[in-house]
Amino acid sequence: MINRWMIFVACLLLGAGGGWWLAGKDGLTTGLLLAAAIWLLQDSLKMARLLTWLRREQSADQPGVPAGEAPSLGGVWGELADRVRRLLRNRDRQYQDSQARLNEFLSAMQASPNGVVLLDAEGRIEWCNQTAAQHFGFDAKRDVMQHIANLVRDPAFTAYLSSGDFSADVVIPGGSSTPARPVKLSVHLHAYGNERKLLLSRDITALELAEAMRRDFVANVSHEIRTPLTVLSGFIETLQTLPLQEPERTRYLGLMAQQSLRMQTLVNDLLTLSRLEGSPLPDTSGWVSTAALMVQCEQEARALSALLTADGHRLVFEAGPPCELAGSHNELLSAMSNLVTNAVRYTPQGGQVMVSWTLLDDGRGRFQVQDSGPGIAAEHIPRLTERFYRIDRSRSRETGGTGLGLAIVKHVAQRHGAELQIESQPGHGSRFAIIFPLTRVRPSQT
Ligand code: ADP
Repeated sequence: MINRWMIFVACLLLGAGGGWWLAGKDGLTTGLLLAAAIWLLQDSLKMARLLTWLRREQSADQPGVPAGEAPSLGGVWGELADRVRRLLRNRDRQYQDSQARLNEFLSAMQASPNGVVLLDAEGRIEWCNQTAAQHFGFDAKRDVMQHIANLVRDPAFTAYLSSGDFSADVVIPGGSSTPARPVKLSVHLHAYGNERKLLLSRDITALELAEAMRRDFVANVSHEIRTPLTVLSGFIETLQTLPLQEPERTRYLGLMAQQSLRMQTLVNDLLTLSRLEGSPLPDTSGWVSTAALMVQCEQEARALSALLTADGHRLVFEAGPPCELAGSHNELLSAMSNLVTNAVRYTPQGGQVMVSWTLLDDGRGRFQVQDSGPGIAAEHIPRLTERFYRIDRSRSRETGGTGLGLAIVKHVAQRHGAELQIESQPGHGSRFAIIFPLTRVRPSQT
């Protein structure tokens, strides 16, 4: 500032000196005034340049656009321009930093597996991630500033939104839900800031399905156990209260033994299933002989056929090329014998059951059971491996079925990387095959 005054005074002195030199005493005042006017003019010009630059900066004040170069003015105006430019530059840097942080934060919310929607105080969508857009069927860009109640019209959600009580979540159908493919969403609102709300949505379709399956499973197991238990307790009561003749007593005890065997079989199958689901996959280092498996299946089939029918079945076993399978002996035997015993159980006496082990052209191995039984209608085939799914309930029970056999077969096949194939037509018998992958089959080493 002192410099400025000094320059001003020097200008005046120079003007006065110049005037006195040119016009003597009279020119002194004129020179003084002229110097003051020139100094003021050049000062005003600098101020005008600074103002023009500032105005231009203000009109171009776009967030994130860096400040332009300040005019080089020198002196006090130059310093002022420099300081303003530095302030503007700092502001821009701060803006860019916070913008980068906001983008990182939004990217994190975008990556969330849950739907996230930010609502303003009026309930309008300020921002939503792609998951939320997919859950509710929004357009993440077009629907910004739309009222959420106009887009999510489920009555349960409308009541939840207007209640103001967001302590629990609400379950509503998803935007893409159809009767054939229902989608369930758990939606939770959280109030924050100035009456704003954070809406979180979670797809719970699979969870609900698993819960429904668990409920069904428990109901089925209870039902399966209750029936033989009721019969057993009825017989026990009869034996306790009535004086029975020996032949009758023996008959009742036989029936009781049958029912307890049924419960035992069911519990064994349930334990097998739970072991299959809970244990690690069988490794590929243990090798099981297919010939030995075929022998064990044949013995079981012949014993069962003799037990169930007077005339038996025509049982054909083709052991094929001697091979070894990588996997668990117990699991493989359980799966194969389930298919063989099913064929024997469902094929009427006199019918034929053909069991074979073959190496396919591509090197995979096929264990196949073909029967001349009643066959299965197409609509049942996809559901046969569901637990407790039976077509002929009474035939299944009469022959000691639990409804879990094919579920066990499917699990064992999956655990060995194999594929279960089922082909059948009513009246034309059935064909069940387990196709083992190349990696689990090798020629017999002995
Ligand atoms: P189950 O213990 O009742 O036999 P599975 O899971 O082994 O239970 O089989 C499911 C249903 O598939 C059976 O109840 C039966 O109706 C049908 N099924 C299985 N194998 C055959 C077959 N070889 N021929 C006809 N129906 C079969």
